[in-house]
Formats: sequence, structure tokens, C-alpha cells
Amino acid sequence: MAIESDVLVIGGGLAGLSSAISAAREGADVRLVTYKQSTLRQASGLIDVLGYTPDGEGPLTDPYSAIPELPDEHPYRLLGEDTVREAMSMFDEVVDTYRGGHTDTNALLPTYGGTVKPTARYPDGAAAGLASDDRDLLLVGFEAMPDFDAPHVAAHLEAAGVPFDVRGETIQFPGDLQDDAKVTRYAKLLEKNGPVEVRGRERGARDALVERLNPLIEDEKRVGLPAVLGDADAAGVRAALEAELGVEVFEVPATPPSLPGVRLEDRLFEAFDEAGGNFESGNPVVSFDGQNRVETVYVDKQSARIPYSADQFVLATGGLVGKGVESDREHVYEPIFDCHVEHSEDRYDWFDEAVFGDHPFAGFGVDPDTELRPLDSGGSPEFENLRAAGSVLGGHDFAAEKSGSGVSIATGYHAGRLAAQEAQ
Ligand SMILES: Cc1cc2nc3c(=O)[nH]c(=O)nc-3n(C[C@H](O)[C@H](O)[C@H](O)COP(=O)(O)OP(=O)(O)OC[C@H]3O[C@@H](n4cnc5c(N)ncnc54)[C@H](O)[C@@H]3O)c2cc1C
Repeated sequence: MAIESDVLVIGGGLAGLSSAISAAREGADVRLVTYKQSTLRQASGLIDVLGYTPDGEGPLTDPYSAIPELPDEHPYRLLGEDTVREAMSMFDEVVDTYRGGHTDTNALLPTYGGTVKPTARYPDGAAAGLASDDRDLLLVGFEAMPDFDAPHVAAHLEAAGVPFDVRGETIQFPGDLQDDAKVTRYAKLLEKNGPVEVRGRERGARDALVERLNPLIEDEKRVGLPAVLGDADAAGVRAALEAELGVEVFEVPATPPSLPGVRLEDRLFEAFDEAGGNFESGNPVVSFDGQNRVETVYVDKQSARIPYSADQFVLATGGLVGKGVESDREHVYEPIFDCHVEHSEDRYDWFDEAVFGDHPFAGFGVDPDTELRPLDSGGSPEFENLRAAGSVLGGHDFAAEKSGSGVSIATGYHAGRLAAQEAQ
């Protein structure tokens, strides 16, 4: 007997979760099956809608007004500006720990690389770092986390012409954690004010950190630290530090693994659960049955093939990073349904000669119609009841445009809503 639902979403990244939440909010019985961790665990946790045009113009002030100028095949053009806005409204309703929804304008936030990034939504914990804020800024990094080199980041920000003074300092995190300590170890120590040894004496980690930060602060009214300030209660850690230091504290998104991304993923799974959805992870969808319609997909569980049937299916398995699109020496392909992926036969055409050039592989993915149904090489829907969302879609280069999360949320929202409406 197959496990049944109205809508089956394959993939539990930002696109799959947006799709599942959107379908559940329409009243459908929704199930989500996913395999490994999503790219949210590597991404900054910032929600970029569109930072640059495909021609590299930007940073864009208003991402929505640029949508009509995008190429016809871009996912945002297929959806239209209004749908992108509706999707972001759903995000704002579901994730109340993010800001930026009060305006169409991109915010500019400092990154751990020392650049300033245009983004549409950002966690509460990053808000005091806005580059549009003219208060002077102190950045503090930890010796055991060399990827966030605070003095270097400060120098870069000054060179970029930010409208405030910025200084960077590096300190040892109390307790001298090893270089390979997990970000969650920092987070939990700070959250619980857990014991660390400082000069032979046991201290609370948060209290000891405050003691190390206090003498560094001159006239600054805000201090930025790597994004390790708490796991389940990041707001509580920030509030405690702010109360002790008398300045605003913010997180600078650091290199993977990303706690802001993990927190966002946790919140979205929680929201899907609250909306009545079911999910399971750890096993891949490997094959399917059906001709014009997908009837059943099969999940590989310890070499047994478990059937899952649904009226509607959403493919949200990610791009080349998430393994929703794969390649060998001859082909680029979508591995579950073998949906068409447009690419040149000559693999030397998949890359640009220049390392930072315009690489065609960056836009590889399935090309859908306006209902997000993947199209075959003749331009017809591969299946009546299969939609695709997120970075499995082609037609855009999310890294160059800074549009990854926005495309995932917008196409996920649209695919989930249409699937639910059609299932009813
Ligand atoms: C390093 C990095 C940094 C980034 N930084 C930013 C940023 O700062 N801002 C921004 O807006 N965007 C950023 N992005 C892009 C953004 O994170 C992605 O575009 C977006 O999260 C993609 O979501 P997705 O759901 O389409 O795919 P994914 O996150 O890849 O999720 C796909 C899911 O599907 C599962 N899956 C795959 N195959 C199967 C199968 N056969 N059966 C079941 N499940 C399957 C995978 O295990 C995974 O969980 C970044 C991406 C990366 C890689």
C-alpha cells in the first residue's frame, strides 16, 4: 500500500519548505520527503530577492522594480512581480524573527568577507549591523574562527566607503575552544552561560566574554560578532550581552555551517508542522511510476522501495549543490524524473574560460511553464501534475544575481499553492 497525500513535496530546503507551507495553508494534505541537509546550512540565512541584474548592474535599490526587465526565462518573469511579493508576505507571516518587510528597498549588510550585501530580509540578530546606520561600529572576531578576520573586514568596509567609523579586534573566546569546535558549541555555551575555564577558574562563558569585550569598546554604540550567539534562544543571548555591554549587539553571518540558516530551517519545519504537514528525512526519492501524470514515487529505505502516491507533486531537490541536478562527462540531467535540462552537447561550452566569467553551468536546471511544470525539449509539460521550485530551476544565476533565497521562496510558494488548488 502506498503512503498517500494530496500533495507530495520532494526536498526539504527553502523551496520545498515554502512549497509545503503554502500548500498546507491552502488546506491540502501535504507530505514532504527529503534526503540530506539542505543548502540553508551553508547559506548566510539572509533572504536575497535580487541584488544585481543578470548584466551585473547593482546593487539594486528596489529588487521588485527590476523584475520586468529580467530575461523571459527567469523564474521571476514567469511568476510576475505580484506573486513574488505575495510569497515574501507569506515568508513575513511565517518567520517573525526576520526584518525588512516594511520596505521594498534592499538593506545593505556587512558580510564576513568585508563587502556590503544587498538583501531583502535579514534576521533580527543582524539588524544593528545595517550599513545605512551611521553609528560607529566595532567588529570582534575570535582567534579560533579565522574565517572572520575582524580587522580585515573593518578595513574593507572603510575602503568601501561606509558612512561610519569601523574598527576590528580579535580576541580569544573564553575557554580557548579548539579551532575545530562546532559553531553549536559556542552557541550553547553562550546560551546556557556554560562553564569555561579562564585563568584556572571556572566562569560562565557569557560573563567571561562580556569581560573581554568591555575594555575593547570605545565610543561605539554597536558591536558585531560572528553568528554564533545562541541556537534556540539567539534573541536571549543578544539581549543578555546588550544589557551587560550597554551597546547593541549583532551577528555577522559567517562561513558554513551557518547558524542563521539552521535557525531559519528549524522555524520553517516548525511552521509546516503547525500547518498540519507531515515530513520525513534521511531517505532519497529514487524513481517513479507514471506516463503523462506522476502516479507514485519510490523512496529508498534501507534498499526497500517504499511507494508514495499523491495527486500533485513538487520537485524541490536543489541545483548542482543539492543534487537536484547532476552531471557526468556527457550530460546534465535531473535524476528522479529525467526532466529535460537544456545544455550544450560540448561540455567545454558549460564553462567560461575566465574563472569569474559568465558560466553557463550556473544557470543549469529544468525550464518550466508559468505554472512551474517542467517542460520537455519540445516545450510541453513533462507531466500534468509535477511542478518544480527553487534551485532545481534554470534560467537564473542565483550566486551572481544574489537571488537564491528569493527564487526559492517565490517559486516554492507558487508551486505549492497551485498544487494544492489543483488537488482539491
Ligand atoms: C554556500 C552557499 C551560500 C549561499 N548564500 C546565500 C545567501 O547569502 N543568500 C541567498 O539568498 N541565497 C544563498 N544561497 C542560495 C540559497 O541558499 C539556495 O538558492 C536555496 O536555499 C536553495 O534552496 P532549494 O530548496 O532549492 O535547494 P536545497 O537547499 O539544495 O535543498 C534541496 C533539498 O532536497 C533534498 N534532495 C535532493 N535530492 C533528493 C531526493 N532524490 N529525494 C529527496 N530529497 C532530495 C536535498 O537533500 C536537500 O535537502 C547560498 C547557497 C550556497 C550553496
